Formats: sequence, structure tokens, C-alpha cells
Amino acid sequence: MIFLQNKQFDMNKTIIAAAVAAVTFMSCSERTNPLLVESNLPYGAVEFDKIRSTDYMPAFEEGLRQLKANIDAIAACADAPTFQNTIEPLESCDRLFGNVGRIFYNLMETDADDIMHETEEKEIPMENEANSYVFMNETIFNRIKQLYDNKDNLGLTVEQMEVLKKYYRRFVTGGANLNEKDKARFVEIQNRLGELRIKYGNNNLDESNAYVLNVTDINRLKGLPQDQLEAAAARAKEKGLEGWAFNVQKPCWIPFLQFCQDRDLREQMYKAYYSRGNNNDQYDNKEIVKETLQLRLELANLLGYETFADFVLEDRMAKTPKAAYDLLMEIWKYALPQAKRERDEMQKIIDAEGGKFKLAAWDWWYYAEKLRKQKYDLDESQLTPYFSLDNVRKGSFMVAETLFGIKFQKVDNLPVYNPTVETWECLDADGSHLAYFYTDCFVRSTKRQGAWMTNFTDEYNYAGQSQRPTIVNVCNFSVPTDTLPSLLSIDDARTVFHEFGHALHGMLTQCHYPTVSGTATPNDFVEMCSQIMEHWAIDPSILKQYAFHYKTGEVIPDELIAKLQNAGHFNTGFETVELVGAALLDMEYHMLKDYSNFDDQKFEDEISAKLGMIPEIEYRYRGTFFSHIFTNDYCAGYYSYLWAEVLDCDAFQCFKEEGLLNPETGKRYRQNILEKGSSDDLMKLYRQFRGSDPKVESMLRNRGLIN
Ligand SMILES: [Zn+2]
Repeated sequence: MIFLQNKQFDMNKTIIAAAVAAVTFMSCSERTNPLLVESNLPYGAVEFDKIRSTDYMPAFEEGLRQLKANIDAIAACADAPTFQNTIEPLESCDRLFGNVGRIFYNLMETDADDIMHETEEKEIPMENEANSYVFMNETIFNRIKQLYDNKDNLGLTVEQMEVLKKYYRRFVTGGANLNEKDKARFVEIQNRLGELRIKYGNNNLDESNAYVLNVTDINRLKGLPQDQLEAAAARAKEKGLEGWAFNVQKPCWIPFLQFCQDRDLREQMYKAYYSRGNNNDQYDNKEIVKETLQLRLELANLLGYETFADFVLEDRMAKTPKAAYDLLMEIWKYALPQAKRERDEMQKIIDAEGGKFKLAAWDWWYYAEKLRKQKYDLDESQLTPYFSLDNVRKGSFMVAETLFGIKFQKVDNLPVYNPTVETWECLDADGSHLAYFYTDCFVRSTKRQGAWMTNFTDEYNYAGQSQRPTIVNVCNFSVPTDTLPSLLSIDDARTVFHEFGHALHGMLTQCHYPTVSGTATPNDFVEMCSQIMEHWAIDPSILKQYAFHYKTGEVIPDELIAKLQNAGHFNTGFETVELVGAALLDMEYHMLKDYSNFDDQKFEDEISAKLGMIPEIEYRYRGTFFSHIFTNDYCAGYYSYLWAEVLDCDAFQCFKEEGLLNPETGKRYRQNILEKGSSDDLMKLYRQFRGSDPKVESMLRNRGLIN
């Protein structure tokens, strides 16, 4: 059972506002819909050359029909429930629906046409229908509950136990175990939370769009780079204003704070950004925050949890709010003193310049920029010639091949969905097939921004059926020309390794059930497998093996490597404090047991006092504009970024201790992490790899917070 679950990257589904004319899908008798029959290609690879955009909707319809028939059959089963007659058929009930969805939604992000947009609009309600058909089915829930209540006597494997627990939680957290009265309240709460989520997001968006700082005296804009001034002039013109206009969007706001010499203007911009949702006007979010938190607590209480954080953390690697909180505090202990040192260093610059004022929050970016130029300057244009896409990819393959005993072989005869897509076969040491790997690297007008990994086909191996996965990495790099290869920035090169880390997690998986296979792991775990690869990307000894000048073939010089490493430690106290601060704020919000006297501003002040937060730094997000936790699914989960970072640094440290390319360490990592998905307790798996619990030291060192 993987629908919805398998979408790794955020699916910002575009809802087409205008009514779309009904499209009639002609059923053509001579042609078979390729989505409805088994692929003729090896390992079930997708026959992209045969699929037409009109094939998706009939395939979704058939998929939904089959799903319902499969669910009806499980519910109609007269035998007492077993794992084999209940859970296994649930795992495959959406096979067609899921297969079509994986292909369709991948291509929606890269190559959608009008027919596909129309299809998407009709598919969204079908997906909701599929979900309710499964998760609102009381007979199915009763069968799962019987299994769950008797789970220790069923002789289940460790993986089967994890799968059963996941099904049970999915049903229970959807309200399946509540009495009628509570169920009604549960639905009411969820509907209201949905409304609040939309209102909160709209307030932020509308307020940000409404804000403008209009400057008509060019003398007040001294220091700003020419491109920023030009953009600001164009913005003013567009709004029918004189002079220059600035807004609180990051691409405008950050350079403004970095470069504008006028302190008063910096203060205005700073305050405009940090007071979003908190101006006691029509965009104010304080009451929405309070009501959301209250309702989340009520929901958690209904489900039997003491706090909302307890409810969320239960199925994460961290398991308890306390574990997440303790880790954050451990980082905080080192980050805060470092931020204070950075503050003092900047104060010295102010004093030396005869500033006669104390550094304020709105001065931070400005003086940090001066410090960066003095101590951490790095000219990116010197680096890019050493990072051609081909070389970077070779580097990432080399690391994986050496560590995990696998091989990547170019394949030229697989159909692709776009002529620029390349395909590879990932082979195990004995030559057996592990996965197909597609790379879709170049920017084009139909492609969404960013970079991601997903499956075209998933992996499973149960009830006499098995399939190996097909994985894709999508990026947005520059298109090579006749004279120039695709050259990457250092961030891009890290992105190649990062997404390739997700891809390895997908390709090397050896689970039985899709629910726990590959990257189907919690937020606080999944990014370890991608982020760890970034360490190899920028390690000096690995750089020497792949970063060659695209023209001369010369290896990247040591002094450039040294500059690159040094630049990574710039402003690290500030960045860690604002990030950990936001994660702590999120956790504090969701650990409360009573919100009746809750006042958002007072609450934030109390937390700041408790943490010893310095006034020169603000949380990266404050409650009234913290969209990760009030409009997205990162509530009580913002810590995940830091948790995963501790894991990736600690795991990489293990390679540093035993040899960066040591195949023995690679084997342990492959067997305990990459192959296991979430088929076992994640902390247990980590310990089996590392030999001990993850420690925070490597992450602190990596961020330059300790030596
Ligand atoms: Zn990632």
C-alpha cells in the first residue's frame, strides 16, 4: 500500500481555477493502453515510448476500480484474519493505481501537457476516494485490530511486525478506533484545522505581497549592488511608485540587509519581515496559532496521547519529544556561545569604524558580510570549471561502487520520457540486477524548480511475487552547448551527491513490503542517507579523484579546496542558533498540555528567556509566520533536519575512522541502513552499523562549533 506515501518530494498540486472542459477519452479497439498491461521490458521498466497523455485517466479509473474490488475481497474474507489474508493483500490492493500514479506524478513535475493537467484535477478526488475507501472501512480495521491485539502470538518476522504496526497506526490516527461521538468531533477538528491552515497561509502570503518599502532618495541606498537597484526600480515602476521598491521576499530582503548602509532602512526592513502575521491587522495570525495548537492537543487527547508532540513523535526515529528536545539542547549549548563570539567580532568592526552604537539584530547581515569578505571569501567562478556534471557524476558513482561493491552501467536501449534523460543499470557484485537508474539533469520550461528523487516502480518481494525498483534523479542544471559542458556550482555538485544518496537508498533496498521499503522512512531518518553523501562530495581526498578542470584536465588545486572548506564555517553560530531556536520553539509549542491562557508573544518571550537567546538573533521563523509547522507537515517535526544532520555527520565519522572508501564499512552501512528501509527499529539498525548511539560531536565539528 503506497499511494500518497510514495511521493518523496513535495507535490504542490496545481489546481486549475478555470473550469476545464470535459475530455472524452476514446477507447480505441486496436490499441492497448500500455499502462494496463505488464511491461515487455526487462525488470518491468516503464514503456515510456508507448504511453500517451490520454492513457492516464482510463488507467486511474481502472486502478481505482481494482483497488475497491481488492478491498471488498479482503473485507468479505470469511476466514479469521491472518497477516497473509489481510495485510499482504492490502499491500498490493493499489498496485495498478499506485503504478500509474508514480509515472503520472513524476512526469507532471517534468513534462506535463494540458491533457495531464486536466487529468490531475480529476485524479485528486479519486485519490481521496481511494484513501477513504481503505481507511474508513470498519471491517478491514477490525481485522487489523484483531491482528494487532494479538501481534506477539502471530509468529511475525521483524519486518512484518513493523508493517502491521504502521497499518494499525494509520487507521487509528485516522479516527478508526473512536466511538461515534468522538469520531464526529474528530472530523470536526480536522475540518477546522484545514480551514485554519489555509487562512494562516493566505495571511502570510497576502501580507508579504502587500508590504513595500518605497525609497525615493538614492543616497539612502548606498552600498546596494547594481542588480538589486535595477530590480527595485523595476518593482517600483510596476507598482506605479517613484524611485525604488523593496519587499520582504528573501531574494530582495537578504541583499538589502547585507548591503544597505542606511541603518534606519535596515531596521524597517528587518522589522517588516519578523513581524509578519503579528501586526494586529487583518493579516494577524496570533489567534489562528492559538486555536490550531488547542485543536491539535484535543485531537491528540482523543487519540490517547498526552500532547500533540507525543502523538507525532511516536513513529519517528526519535520516538519521544524528550529525545528530540535533548538533542536540540545539546547543539544549542555550543551554538549560542559561538553566536556570541560572532557578535563580539562584529562589534569590533563597528568600533573600529567609529560606529558608536551597539550591534542590533538588523545589523547582523551587514557586518557578517564584511566579516565574510575579510575571512571567508570564496570566488565561486574559480570553482565551477572543476565541476562538470560528467565528472561529478563519475565521482558519485566511484564512491558508491567502491563502498558498496556495486557497478553502474550505461544502458542505451531503454525508452525515456524526454530525450535528455539518461539511463543506467545498477548491478550487484555478482552481476545481478539491482535497479534501473534514470537521470534527468537539465533545466527545461516544463520542469519544476529544485532537485528530487522518486521511484517509477517500487520494490517488493512477498507472496511469490517480486520486483526490483526503478529510480529517477531530477535536477535543473544548465544545458551543455557545443563548446561547454554542463558546469556546476559547488552547491549543485553537493545536490548531485545528495539526490544520489536518496537514489541509493531506493536502489539497494532489500525489503519485502512496499510500506517499509527503500526511502519509505520517517523524516528524521530519510535525509541521513542523502546528506551523508554530501560529505564525500567535498572531502579533499575525494575531490582529488573527481574534480578535474573540464578543459585542461588539471586536478583542483589545494588552495581552492582550503578556501572551500574555510567558507563552510562562516556565520555558523548565527545559522545554528536561528535554526535550532526555531526547532525548539516548534517543540515547545506542541509539548504544552493546556492552552487556555496561551498568549503567543508572551510564550515566545518566555522560551527566549529560558534559552538565553540573545536579542541580536531571532528564531528563523516566529509563530506567526512559521509555515513549516502551521501550513505544512513539519509540526513537532522541524527538529528532523537537525536530527538527520547529527546522524549523517556521525555516520560519516565512522567512515573517516575506518577509511573513507573502506568496503567493509560500506558493507555494514549497506546491510544495516540502505537495504533495510524502515523494516526494523531505526535506532537499532543505526547502532548495528555504528556500534554505538549517534553522538552530536561530529555535527558540531562539521559546523565549526567545536574543534
Ligand atoms: Zn533530500
